[in-house]
Amino acid sequence: MLLQLRQNPNSHELESVLRLARELGYRVAVLGETRTLIELTGQGRPEHRSLFEDLPAVARVLESSGAPERHEKAGREQERPLRVRDAVFGCGSIALIAGPCAVEDPKLLLETARAVQAAGATLLRGGAFKPRTSPYSFQGSGEEGLGVLADVREAIGIGIATEVLDVRDVESVWKVADLLQVGSRNMHNSALLRELGRQEKPVLLKRGFAATVREFLLAAEFILAGGNEQVLLCERGIRGFDEVTRNVLDLGAMAYIQRVSHLPIVVDPSHAAGRADLVRPLARAGLAAGADGLIVEVHPAPATARCDGFQAISFAEFASVAADARAIAAMDGRKLSLPGGWRAGERARAQEPVA
Ligand code: PEP
Ligand code: MN
Repeated sequence: MLLQLRQNPNSHELESVLRLARELGYRVAVLGETRTLIELTGQGRPEHRSLFEDLPAVARVLESSGAPERHEKAGREQERPLRVRDAVFGCGSIALIAGPCAVEDPKLLLETARAVQAAGATLLRGGAFKPRTSPYSFQGSGEEGLGVLADVREAIGIGIATEVLDVRDVESVWKVADLLQVGSRNMHNSALLRELGRQEKPVLLKRGFAATVREFLLAAEFILAGGNEQVLLCERGIRGFDEVTRNVLDLGAMAYIQRVSHLPIVVDPSHAAGRADLVRPLARAGLAAGADGLIVEVHPAPATARCDGFQAISFAEFASVAADARAIAAMDGRKLSLPGGWRAGERARAQEPVA
């Protein structure tokens, strides 16, 4: 591990770094003319990095080999994709998650599920519990919405991605969800993250809209440290200064995360753009940059949607996004996960490159 110290730490501060290093069993070398680099050698543990970062003398951990955190590539000998029913994310596989922002009418949800599945989505998204900016906006249909999701899963065998807003709802959402979504506003909710760390079910962790990459990865670390290794990250845009888009899709952060972490990461072009006409270009950009999949808001009649209708795309537009995904996957030598129920002919056609 390599620690960068702040300029001129006092002797007490410096001593506390050296003491901790020795207590944890590292050999210590102070490097550089200004003596502001400390190299620690020895076998460490994932939790050590944060212990050093918490010390006032430490400006940054430059390199954490010897004590990689659980999300880091170096922390695992072998990368594995994340499987959620028919969807496979990572290690050369891409998968599509699509559906409305919120669960509304059962008929509309079933119609949407059928349409997105027919286009190639392997998971249906839809929130029963909705995190809203205003307490007066539609908050989702709660338990009733979970029932609707369960019925659709039963009817067409599509996996379900749905948000868990509160620790108290983990049990009921768990029964319906194949992928438990943690929304942007909850990325810092360590109690919820810890609880999901105890579950044996995949978690979709969305980046907080004002979270640094480090904070995002540490949020994932809460889940991993609890023993749940099934984490799928999601870059959904961060808050910018310009209002032409709802957020700024941070593909630089996504590409960086793929360099440092073994966790698969998908892109959410819907919440990044905040407008339907920009969803397709952002989806293409995300996949071309290497995203392991997409989560997209789709609605049969976006103008009437109870939530995020302005950014929902139609069934036809989603079919174009799915065709783009096939084309980009083929170009990259990657595989797009296909719904299990697809007939062999459709499967073969879908694997063909799109002109
Ligand atoms: C959502 O997926 O509908 C949602 C609320 O997203 P986010 O948490 O990224 O805002
Ligand atoms: Mn939404």
